[in-house]
Amino acid sequence: MKGICILGATGSIGVSTLDVVARHPDKYRVVALTANGNLDALYEQCLAHHPEYAVVANENNLQAFKDRIANSPVADIKVLGGAKALETVSTLDNVDSVMAAIVGAAGLLPTLAAAKAGKNVLLANKEALVMSGQIFMQAVTDAGATLLPIDSEHNAIFQCMPAGYTAGQTAKQARRILLTASGGPFRRTPIADLDAVTPDQAVAHPKWDMGRKISVDSATMMNKGLELIEACLLFNMDPDDIQVVIHPQSIIHSMVDYVDGSVLAQMGNPDMRTPIAHAMAWPERFDSGVAPLNIFEVAHMDFEQPDLQRFPCLRLAYEAIKAGGIMPTVLNAANEIAVEAFLNEQVRFTDIAKIIERSMAKFTPDVADSLEIILQADRQAREVANTIIGELNS
Ligand code: NAD
Ligand code: MG
Repeated sequence: MKGICILGATGSIGVSTLDVVARHPDKYRVVALTANGNLDALYEQCLAHHPEYAVVANENNLQAFKDRIANSPVADIKVLGGAKALETVSTLDNVDSVMAAIVGAAGLLPTLAAAKAGKNVLLANKEALVMSGQIFMQAVTDAGATLLPIDSEHNAIFQCMPAGYTAGQTAKQARRILLTASGGPFRRTPIADLDAVTPDQAVAHPKWDMGRKISVDSATMMNKGLELIEACLLFNMDPDDIQVVIHPQSIIHSMVDYVDGSVLAQMGNPDMRTPIAHAMAWPERFDSGVAPLNIFEVAHMDFEQPDLQRFPCLRLAYEAIKAGGIMPTVLNAANEIAVEAFLNEQVRFTDIAKIIERSMAKFTPDVADSLEIILQADRQAREVANTIIGELNS
């Protein structure tokens, strides 16, 4: 029986994780659930899964939630509040696995704490890895933690790696990674029309049902840019050996090209419960609730080169990882600020890439060899991006 802590339990990945957990009550026990804002959902999850701990990251909502639990049938749940409490529950002795499913930089510290505590880290929170890079990978190695990718592409690549492979190693006989992308909702939209895209249009993803931030990232293809950096780190590969492939059907979730000419692909219906169940059961497998793939319904699959003119964010991610140092941290922070501004209708869709590019131009790729340097670069890049947004609107 394994204990699981779900960071970001109320989000899209968190909900899918609880769906898988509920299918395996003999294998998994929910030790802790965390959420930021959506406390009705957290309350319902507490009733259904009866964790030992519930964490409300945003302390403004803490007292009301404590009162609600105290007057509920699950009054023995310990309710904690604040960002530090996320680290407390991700390192508990009876937690074996931590699902890192907070969105954005807010997930870094509890995810890093889980790695340092030697947990099985089920990593959905790609921003945490992109911003901290080698520091995170080193923490995993030093503590002997097990890092299992949840991002569907990286989970697919992991599944296509040789037997005995662990994240962070170079698979010598693997010469290339083919990182697939759906291309998002604007793959065919005339470039001139992208200026007028609304938040609702941008979050309406054709293949995946996800949180708002990652949905916008998919529309700009910054999601693929972050995933490119994530893949360089997880699989210790050079960015030039990772080819992004647009595959609109989202049936192949990525491929590994071997020196003998074999190309291994992992396929399945686009449903995050497959990579979640894979990582939870690893090195075994168990049921995820995902319907079997109907290959006859798929019938055919298309593959295209990405257009970097249409998707400048992908180009910026290649530039950031090649420049190295703090630049991936800067890219990620500027993107988080720009996406939030877009969702709040303060900037246009096409401004997102401009804000990131102008922010990156203000930084030099200094070495990023400590957490302090990373956190400082993250803070500064957010300030710079906010200033640029102010300039765009003046
Ligand atoms: P979401 O917006 O649906 O959920 C985010 C979760 O994080 C919520 O539980 C929210 O309460 C919590 N949260 C938000 N801000 C917080 C803060 N400041 N402090 C603490 N908790 C906070 O997002 P999602 O779609 O589930 O994505 C989560 C992560 O997984 C992201 O990093 C995303 O890139 C990655 N991911 C998601 C998918 C997907 O299909 N949704 C696929 C691959 C990777
Ligand atoms: Mg992905």
